[in-house]
Amino acid sequence: MGLERAFLARLPQAQPAVQALAPAPPVGTSAAAPALERAVPPADRPVPVAAVSGAASDALSARDQALAVLRKSGARPAAPVPVEEVVQRPAVLIQPEKARDMASLLEQAQACQECGLHTGRAQVVFGSELVAEPDWMIVGEAPGTSDDRSAQPFDGKAGLLLQAMLNSAIPNASIYKAHLVKCRPLGNRPPAPEELAACRAFLDAQIRLVQPRRLLAVGHVAAMALSGCEQDLETLRGQVLSYTDTLGRSVPLVVTYHPASLLLRPQHKANAWRDLSLLRQLQAQP
Ligand code: SF4
Repeated sequence: MGLERAFLARLPQAQPAVQALAPAPPVGTSAAAPALERAVPPADRPVPVAAVSGAASDALSARDQALAVLRKSGARPAAPVPVEEVVQRPAVLIQPEKARDMASLLEQAQACQECGLHTGRAQVVFGSELVAEPDWMIVGEAPGTSDDRSAQPFDGKAGLLLQAMLNSAIPNASIYKAHLVKCRPLGNRPPAPEELAACRAFLDAQIRLVQPRRLLAVGHVAAMALSGCEQDLETLRGQVLSYTDTLGRSVPLVVTYHPASLLLRPQHKANAWRDLSLLRQLQAQP
């Protein structure tokens, strides 16, 4: 009935009584028919007006006839188009390297379709709650299923393990987290080289704006992307590398296992603990 009321409110009001006394038009061409034709689209009008009431139809107002047609046919007026679909948003220019603050960078990421990953995302996973000049910025590879659902990097089991490791090694450190790519690759596959390249400007802009004191890359893909070195993970671990940001600033970089890989290969936890000791040493430095 709510839909019927909304529909009927848009119909012309009933004709004055003096018109109702006018000679009845032939069946099938009643005075109400033009109004009904305007109000009910042809596709929604399987029942002819004349079939509604026979002789009594002359006494019905346009509203009554339309109501009868709706009830008989089961037709429903079209749902109103949401305002957001009518009002077009202004296009967002995707230029991460020119973003002056995190809000405009986030807006660009949310509008970004620079690589195919945008088709599989539920949400852009941009970064954790913003911390200015954090002690550490943690960089992973790509959002997983839980991240995609919550829009938070390192959500789910792997994220809990990472947080437990950080709490134990550097409990008082301020931390900001993000991934190399901001949209989830379907099936949790690693991001392809062209997807990493397309999203790289977002990460570089994030690091430029956040200005972390140190970086921790988790997993081989993040380690190679930030260090620019192509050696295997075991070679890159256990040392302080460096990342040069787009302003030419050198940021200390440490590499360790991805927490998801530690869940699968617990035998690496002893090595991971050594990496955390390195974090603790760096954190202790002024
Ligand atoms: Fe854009 Fe990065 Fe998402 Fe690709 S992954 S669509 S480059 S935000």
